[in-house]
Amino acid sequence: MRKPVYLDYAATTPVAPEVAARMAQCLTFDGTFANSASRSHVYGWQAEEIVEEARAQVASLIDADTREIVWTSGATEANNLALKGIAETYRATHTQGGHIIVSAIEHKAVLDPATWLESQGFRVTRLQPGSDGIITAAGLEAAFQDDTFLVSIMLVNNELGSINDVKCLVDVCKPRGILFHCDAAQAAGKIEVNVKKLGVDLLSLSAHKFYGPKGVGALYVRRAGEVKVAAQIHGGGHERMMRSGTLATHQLIGMGGAAELAREQLSEDSLRIATLRDRLWEGIANLPNVTRNGSPSCCVGGILNVAFGNIDGEMLLLSLRDLAISSGSACNSASMSPSYVLKAIGLSDEHAQASLRFSIGRYTTVDEIEFAIEHLRSVIAKLNKA
Ligand SMILES: *Cc1c(COP(=O)(O)O)cnc(C)c1O
Repeated sequence: MRKPVYLDYAATTPVAPEVAARMAQCLTFDGTFANSASRSHVYGWQAEEIVEEARAQVASLIDADTREIVWTSGATEANNLALKGIAETYRATHTQGGHIIVSAIEHKAVLDPATWLESQGFRVTRLQPGSDGIITAAGLEAAFQDDTFLVSIMLVNNELGSINDVKCLVDVCKPRGILFHCDAAQAAGKIEVNVKKLGVDLLSLSAHKFYGPKGVGALYVRRAGEVKVAAQIHGGGHERMMRSGTLATHQLIGMGGAAELAREQLSEDSLRIATLRDRLWEGIANLPNVTRNGSPSCCVGGILNVAFGNIDGEMLLLSLRDLAISSGSACNSASMSPSYVLKAIGLSDEHAQASLRFSIGRYTTVDEIEFAIEHLRSVIAKLNKA
């Protein structure tokens, strides 16, 4: 059996082979297996050295200082640490109140911590994006309240690929002393992510979205007195007291290696991938009732979200056996309800249900795209006849 063509790179990417090889060298006795916190022998020193090298690689991808990188188990944990850690610090000096703004189309890893904070007495505004999936500075400004202390808005949306002008959003927060967190899990490796240019205070990354391993990520925490993140995992005081736990050397080396590759290949990857995405759209755009969701002009190269007008999405997904794709994000595809992201940009339940996300990546070939077009066209022709 021929394996289906993988067009779900936004859900996860395979580990780059050169990165996987380096990871394997951190596991066995022959390799760098030691605890990087062991200070009394050479095994530990070597582990610490490669962990710090990886930290520098991740810092370099986003133009941060190495001391600003806190290792986590992924972007979910980084988002939780940012939101809960900042809220806890706020609560320490304010006995009540506290207002947080997020966008309504954040990943669940931001929306759910925000809802949890609401249950702890904070107030949360969920900003609605435009039909392009983008949050405007004017919209953000209108939502400010006297006690707004934190804004969390993503750089790239995982279902639409839409890109927020985060610098512009940060600029309206700065004069009011409101901290800005950005979930950049879908941006790293796809577009430039530069914390200095963006001006953000906190930023989340996930290795498995840019050809690193699953189960590792990082939170950028700007070095400044006003950015104080209270630890959410206690036990030993690793990571400058912000995140305890023995560092997973092989995972960190994987993330560091992937970050370096992403930095080196960014322009080449993104150009090639955008060309493949445009070819895919060109190949299906003239099918009946097919429309593109989100903003074609302000979108990362690898994501194409399409509504197939009068066709049942579930049926379509099941019929497209030779393509590995998803309706909306992987995290929500367990539930049959239409995507909250697509509904937030104004799609009807039917249109949201009839939408599919194609995501293209580093290992996608022209042949695979041509195959996907043929397959889509023949399956849709059959479904339209039925
Ligand atoms: C994948 C993803 C996450 C979750 O990252 P994990 O490392 O899998 O926890 C968070 N936010 C966005 C935008 C994502 O795409």
